[in-house]
Amino acid sequence: MKLKKRIYMLLIVLVFIITASLYILTRPKIVFLHDIEKVEINNQYDAKSFVEKVRGHDKNEVKIDDSKVNIKKLGTYVIVYKIGDDKYEHKIEVVDTKAPRFELLKNVEVDTAGKLKAKELVTNIQDETKTKVFFKEDYDLKKAGKLKVTVVVEDEGNNQTEKETTIQLIDDKEAPVLEGVGDLMIEKNKKIDYLKNITAKDNLDPNPSIKVDDSQVDTSKLGTYQIVYTVSDRSNNKHTYKQRVEVVDKLIQKDKGQSQEKIVYLTFDDGPSNNTKKILDILDQYNAKATFFVTGTNQKCNYLIKEAHQKGHTIALHTYCHDYSQVYSSVDAYFDDLAKIGQMVKKEIGFVPRFIRFPGGSSNTISRRYCKGIMTQLTKEVKNRGYQYYDWNGDSTDALGNNVPVSQLIRNATSSSANNINILCHDTDAKGTTVQALPSIIQYYQQRGYQFKGIDENSFTPHQSVNN
Ligand SMILES: [Zn+2]
Repeated sequence: MKLKKRIYMLLIVLVFIITASLYILTRPKIVFLHDIEKVEINNQYDAKSFVEKVRGHDKNEVKIDDSKVNIKKLGTYVIVYKIGDDKYEHKIEVVDTKAPRFELLKNVEVDTAGKLKAKELVTNIQDETKTKVFFKEDYDLKKAGKLKVTVVVEDEGNNQTEKETTIQLIDDKEAPVLEGVGDLMIEKNKKIDYLKNITAKDNLDPNPSIKVDDSQVDTSKLGTYQIVYTVSDRSNNKHTYKQRVEVVDKLIQKDKGQSQEKIVYLTFDDGPSNNTKKILDILDQYNAKATFFVTGTNQKCNYLIKEAHQKGHTIALHTYCHDYSQVYSSVDAYFDDLAKIGQMVKKEIGFVPRFIRFPGGSSNTISRRYCKGIMTQLTKEVKNRGYQYYDWNGDSTDALGNNVPVSQLIRNATSSSANNINILCHDTDAKGTTVQALPSIIQYYQQRGYQFKGIDENSFTPHQSVNN
């Protein structure tokens, strides 16, 4: 009996030893803190810190591969830990537990079209994941008056934040307006995006819709057409705008440097006048061509615009009223004036010229008084609309006063030796000495091999630096 008992004991001990050694041999060498590690999205984590202990090895011997983890995206990922020949996979979950923060707009007025989206009331959302914005309940947004609403912002981790505000629902009677509508020039057979520079604004609808009717326009045929914009808000208030579209052969858009040829571009601003006829005669006499940047201030002489054009001179646009305080009061005011002078000239010569000169030149500072930054805008915008502007790189200085001495005008006008010279002169009743100086100026340059040409689309485009 005693022997049997001992054998039993021995067996038990043996089984215990075997079990214990098996356990010791097969138990994981790496012990982790948790079954699954949770890490806040976009936060730093240290994969080593997930290891509670390492059996039989130093913690620093563990090799970690966490290349599968995308800390910027919610989800469960696997990190691989290696010690010797053993590999352990451990899970990490990227979570978003922090509720979104946001602000609500105050004193919001909304139309009763019933199309208000909750997100229109929300600003400055802060959260680590994408959010949705919605109303907590279905509200009746079609009844005018005050309405208390609760807005919910929810993130990808399903965390929600609620805020309450009162909105004012109003029956919208006000039509939206369009900005950027102005006469356009487009090149024959070219496609154009009529909405490119157009923006719609409404008192209550954040996204008024714009429709363009360009069915009248035939871009394969030169001519003047009309397009109609209709802008409407979600309460169905409408406004229509008509825009003139001129299909032309070629648009000048690129600035041109000086050519190798010797060319003088005589340019006369502010005409026509009682001196125009005399200028034309002198030009004829020397077989010279010139450019007239005309205005609408002396229309009894407009027949001379036609005459100059027929003689092969270039007619270009200066301004209709030449009143700085009006022309430079706003971008729209400038283009209104430009459209007027364009139409006036068209009556004489059959088309709207694309060559323009800003009153005072593009470098003028007087426009600052009426509209800050306007020249910076206009110098770009005129080109968007198919015009090119010309300043000058030669100056007769006849703008210094009336009756500037002829000798002084000649001296100043002939002071340039550039290849291409665009000389500023004026064509008004008061500039008699300019007319007198003209023959000597022309002779001077002709003797030096210069030709006198009118501006065309290949001409040098002198541009001064914009100061406003
Ligand atoms: Zn002028």
